[in-house]
Amino acid sequence: MTDVAVGALGVLVGAVVAVGILDARQRGRLRSERVRADHAEASLASETRSSNEALEVRATILSSMEEGVALFDAAGRCAFANDALARHLGSTPDRIDALLPLDLQRAARRASAGDAPVWVEAETGTPPRWLRATAQPVGEDGSVMLVVRDVTDARRLEAIRRDFVANASHELKTPVASIRAAAETLRDGAIDDPPAAYRFTEQLEREALRLSRIVSDLLDLSRLETGSDLAERVHMDAIAADEVERLEDRAAEAHVRIALHADGVPSINGSARDMALLVRNLIDNAVRYTPAGGSVDVTVTTRDDDVLVRVADTGVGIPRRDLPRVFERFYRVDRARSRETGGTGLGLAIVKHVAENHGGDVTVESELAAGSTFEVRIPQAGAVPAPGGP
Ligand code: ADP
Repeated sequence: MTDVAVGALGVLVGAVVAVGILDARQRGRLRSERVRADHAEASLASETRSSNEALEVRATILSSMEEGVALFDAAGRCAFANDALARHLGSTPDRIDALLPLDLQRAARRASAGDAPVWVEAETGTPPRWLRATAQPVGEDGSVMLVVRDVTDARRLEAIRRDFVANASHELKTPVASIRAAAETLRDGAIDDPPAAYRFTEQLEREALRLSRIVSDLLDLSRLETGSDLAERVHMDAIAADEVERLEDRAAEAHVRIALHADGVPSINGSARDMALLVRNLIDNAVRYTPAGGSVDVTVTTRDDDVLVRVADTGVGIPRRDLPRVFERFYRVDRARSRETGGTGLGLAIVKHVAENHGGDVTVESELAAGSTFEVRIPQAGAVPAPGGP
């Protein structure tokens, strides 16, 4: 929870308590005035009404909050708890002693005994969820306000980001180490041995190329994470034709036949550059993972309100257990084959980002040693407003 949120909640619940006390005092004062003056009755009624309305507003705010909020009085009894608290904890504790998980209870006790807020993070439930809580002393009699937030998603994202940085560093380190080794070997004498020198300069070139591919894919991914610019009318059949042409030579070198089937499909709203990236990655993979003599078929067609791009190959296929993971960054089924053929492990993550940025999705079907079919579905222009734009 941010300090601002904690502060705001502190003020809010402080206000609830203070207003409760003030309301009580105010009502007492007004009651004695009523004995003295008849016209004060009308004023009391209106002030009570407005303070009731204020309490209702506060109760509405507290009950609609994402954060669970509870107030424990000096005796440790739960004086107030909103609905979100029961959602986060599974039930509403009637006393501090009943508060679970135990880390939260300890934090509430420490705050009750001291005069400073106590922060704590605790795991709870199955499947496990992470709760972040702040126990804050209220007043000086040992009352405590507890604010609980579910940070499971934030923690998961943090873990994904940490893994990604570790993976990216590892992927970059490998070609760098190889470049250093080749340069050192050249300097230490291989430079005077022409066949060896040729081999090591080739290694330098290959690894530098690999480095530049990884960096280029990383830059594309990071740009795509902030969305795609959907301002253009994009013709997927024209893009597919360009990309097939671009990869035709490589397919011919690998003795893989490549064919395009496209029949004047409607345009989509999107980014031509990102769509080209998507189609290129799919065709590039299909060619790289198809042995000589195989074929790749690229089809652009429509289904209902969607434009479909299908890339089917007769290649090595993907084991069933790996299918759900191939769109993860740096996930590879066959690391060696990916490296040998110039893969970065990022191509399908890029494909998924582009499809989702355009309001569509990508699916895969595959059979080992028979081939794979990737299908991208994008809503036609004007069919559904595509999310993901900046
Ligand atoms: P890479 O650069 O390693 O190809 P991708 O993200 O493009 O990375 O793909 C992830 C993994 O999915 C690849 O390493 C490969 O194992 C598998 N894969 C992708 N496309 C195909 C395909 N057409 N046929 C077989 N396996 C594929």
